[in-house]
Formats: sequence, structure tokens, C-alpha cells
Amino acid sequence: MKKKTQLIHGGIFGDEVTGAVSVPIYQVSTYKQDGPGNHRGYEYSRTGNPTRHALEELISDLEEGKRGFAFGSGMAAMTAVMMLFKQGDHVLITDDVYGGSYRVITKVLNRFGLEATFINTSDLQSIEKNIKENTKALFLETPTNPTLKITDIEGAANIAKKHGLLTIVDNTFSTPYWQNPITLGADIVLHSATKYIGGHSDVVAGLAVVNDEKLGDELHFVQNSTGGVLGPQDSWLLIRGIKTLGLRMEETEKNTKQIVNFLLEHEMVSKVYYPGIESHPNHEIAKKQARGFGGMVSFDVGSAEKAADVLSKVKYFTLAESLGAVESLISIPALMTHASIPADRRAELKITDGLIRISVGIEDAEDLIDDLKQALQN
Ligand SMILES: *Cc1c(COP(=O)(O)O)cnc(C)c1O
Repeated sequence: MKKKTQLIHGGIFGDEVTGAVSVPIYQVSTYKQDGPGNHRGYEYSRTGNPTRHALEELISDLEEGKRGFAFGSGMAAMTAVMMLFKQGDHVLITDDVYGGSYRVITKVLNRFGLEATFINTSDLQSIEKNIKENTKALFLETPTNPTLKITDIEGAANIAKKHGLLTIVDNTFSTPYWQNPITLGADIVLHSATKYIGGHSDVVAGLAVVNDEKLGDELHFVQNSTGGVLGPQDSWLLIRGIKTLGLRMEETEKNTKQIVNFLLEHEMVSKVYYPGIESHPNHEIAKKQARGFGGMVSFDVGSAEKAADVLSKVKYFTLAESLGAVESLISIPALMTHASIPADRRAELKITDGLIRISVGIEDAEDLIDDLKQALQN
């Protein structure tokens, strides 16, 4: 099945009993048992809920995995995955991971004795060099935010396998429509479904997919034990969002390419970060491992003042955190998503005060370019 068909027909299609073509919202917490302990597959909705289950089957199919899991947010999904490990275990993590991922590792999970080292995973040698006796996993985010760095998933997963580590990939920016880490050797894929998968800025949710049944049992045990599950209404909204994921990603990318070309030509813009352009240092790997380059672009306008000026002038780019929705969003990472990162560390990661990040929506490209044009004018 091709991806666009899978978005509609993957997982569980509609409702067997009534013929409804949309999965019903099972707004329920508990289920009648035919005798004590004798239930029909569902006993309590933390453990399992039919609407959530339909979503979990769907994301598992889309990521070419074995089992899927839905959580109340991307961070809840990540936290549950990290709870597969124990005190004294060590994980290697991409150095410019999402700020919330950095925070949960360094400020919450560290309290329970989980050790972590943040490294440049775009450099495969750096992975090999930093593996320790107690290293249990390699956590990759690719592409990263906001400079869109790429890690060679297959290369990294091969190193991880050689050393008996699990490879975990945060696939939020690419979505299963463009990139499937499991087919490249990853063991676990994570999503903030709040972004492209939901796609309409109306749900906070997280998804995880594992590539084997045993890992699936372990993660279900954690999901059920810690309880950060996604509710049936939000599960349904994600199933609905996923139906148009392909259309949205294609349209976003078409718009993005035009915007990137415009930015590359603009005299106010000193640097454009987008994996789809040949000058991007990881362009070849991006092209090899993903079917598209996505809709996230960052560009440098030179100063905090200029960036603030642009943000004050745009009409169609909404000033907001988050990304991946039908409406275009704009932000200044140094002041918003990455404000909690110390200034010297931000400088290392090239997150300058003049760096603007946009998440390109599916509005008309001409309108979006005209908007940026007038906003960039002095
Ligand atoms: C937003 C985001 C997260 C966290 O997801 P939430 O749904 O906000 O909890 C994790 N990783 C990436 C790459 C993100 O963009």
C-alpha cells in the first residue's frame, strides 16, 4: 500500500458493527465483563480504548512498525519511552534536540539516575566515541530545530546495533509521510502529534511506535502503569488529521520551496537553513533517507531588531510557538522556543538573535511570499 492510501486505509478502517466509515469516539472509561476477568479485549480505558487503539494501529502501520502507542503529549510519549531504562543507564542524545526533550532529560529523568550525553549525532564518529559501558540507547532527532541538522539514521542505527543499543528517533519534523526511521534500522519512533500529524493547531498529543512485540509489551506496561494516555476525542482528531497528512505535506513543501528560493535571493537574509537546498551540509543524507524535506525553514536577518521588525509586520505568519499546522507560523527561537538555553550554548548551535523560524502552512504561496517581502522591507 502506498503512503497516501495507507493514510486512509491503514490501521482500523471505520466500524465493523455499524458500517460507519469513521472510527467512533468511544467516550468510555470502563467495559462490561461477561464474568470476572472475562472481558472482550477492553477492561479500562487507561489500559486500552477502541478509538485510541485505532489510532495506535494506524500510526504503527504508517511507521512500518509492530505496535503503536498514543499519549497525552509528545513529552509524555518521550518520557514513557525513557522509562524503559533504569537508574545508572546512559543514553546518547542529539545535541540540539527539542528544548522540552532537553529539559526532561536534564531536569527530571536525571533525578532518577538516568545519565545522558548530548552530542552532534550528524557526526557518526562522535556517536561511536561517546558510547560507554552503561550506554543503552541512542536518541536522535532529525531534522533538528531550528537549524534543520540531519543525522544519517541508517548509519547511526548500524553503530547502535553493533553496540547493543536501542535507536530512538524523534520523527516529528518529517512525519511518517516523508521518513520512516524503522525501515532505516531504528527501534522506536516518537512524534509530537501536536504538530504535523494533528496538523490543525487543535490537539496536544504524542505517539510512539516500536519495531518488535517484546518492546511493545514493555512500552504498553509503562503506558498502562504511568497512565499518560491520549483521550478518545483527541485520538479521533488525530485519525482525522492523518487522513490529509499527505495532501498537507505535499502542499507545505511546494510552498516552502518557493519561499526558500525567495529568501535565498533576498539581500536582507544572510543565511537560510533548509535541508532541501544543495548548500545544506547534510542535503545528500536528507535526500537519501527522506522522501521530502518538509516545511520548516530558518533564516537569519542579522539582528534582534531586524527580526523583531519582521515579526511586527507579517500578516499571514502568526507569531506563535509550535509548528506543522495548516496556518503559517513564525517565531524567534532565541527569544521563544530556545530561550531557556544559555546564550553561549545558543551561539554554538548558531541560534543567533536574528534567526527567524517559519513553519510554512498551506495558504497560497504568492500571498506568503508577498507577506515576507513587505515585512523584510526597511
Ligand atoms: C513539540 C515537540 C516535542 C514535544 O511535543 P509536545 O506535544 O509539545 O509535548 C518533541 N519533539 C519535537 C521535535 C517537537 O517539535
